[in-house]
Amino acid sequence: IPNAVPRKVILVTGASSGIGEATARHLAASGHQVLLGARRVDRIAVIAKEILDAGGEASFQELDVTSLDSVRAFANTAAKRYGRIDVLVNNAGIMPLSMLEELRVNEWDRMIDVNLRGVLHGIAAVLPVMREQKAGHIVNIASTSAYRVDPTAAVYCATKFAVRAISEGLRQENTDIRVTVVSPGLTRSELVDGIANPQVQAAVREMMGLAISPEAIAQAIGFAISQPADVDVSELIIRPTAQR
Ligand code: NDP
Repeated sequence: IPNAVPRKVILVTGASSGIGEATARHLAASGHQVLLGARRVDRIAVIAKEILDAGGEASFQELDVTSLDSVRAFANTAAKRYGRIDVLVNNAGIMPLSMLEELRVNEWDRMIDVNLRGVLHGIAAVLPVMREQKAGHIVNIASTSAYRVDPTAAVYCATKFAVRAISEGLRQENTDIRVTVVSPGLTRSELVDGIANPQVQAAVREMMGLAISPEAIAQAIGFAISQPADVDVSELIIRPTAQR
């Protein structure tokens, strides 16, 4: 069907693996113009090239969401190259789980810096542009860990609860910018690689036996984006059928 999907300029953070990669590929295949960001620039270069080779539109830029300057430069690149910013997918995240008693304070700080400050930096970078446009869409990736707390996940859950709170505040404060929280359950990706404690990593890997593909999350993001401008899909939870 020609012109069924309006072409959008979409920024994806953490696009070098897992959910971000699948989302960039899915949205580009749907006809959108995608800017991929991550620290592993070699990876996003390859993904962007594969999208281009398949006839899609993609570009990439090195991005560290813990730096406001880096996120602003990322947004500026999209605004300059494509003339507008329609959607930001705030996806970058890390999950170095551990018991609080292990006092892995550096890991707590990193989770706050990436999962929480990173999302805020994304909002800070695109909100002025979207307000000027009187249109835009911010998709924040939370988690089923934004609804419940489990041992070893206190700080991770805290960052994801916070992503929901910030998203709800952002939604309430804006009448022409759409805000969507997408909360995946267990999903195949590289997230577990960052768990330093071997016992915790082994336990989470076992749970990951249930995991669904990152494409399932990408499709949910695509669904929210494809709604008409006056329809806000505020929250979506996508998890394995077998996940308790
Ligand atoms: P991955 O580890 O595969 O992907 C994480 C992405 O985040 C990578 O592209 C990584 O890129 C990027 N990233 C990490 N730190 C930074 C940083 N400082 N600046 C920019 N990018 C960064 O895991 P997932 O795909 O699973 O994770 C994506 C999101 O989904 C996260 O927010 C996660 O919390 C969430 N989630 C995942 C679930 C799962 O079961 N997999 C369940 C619920 C939520 P690079 O290292 O190249 O910078």
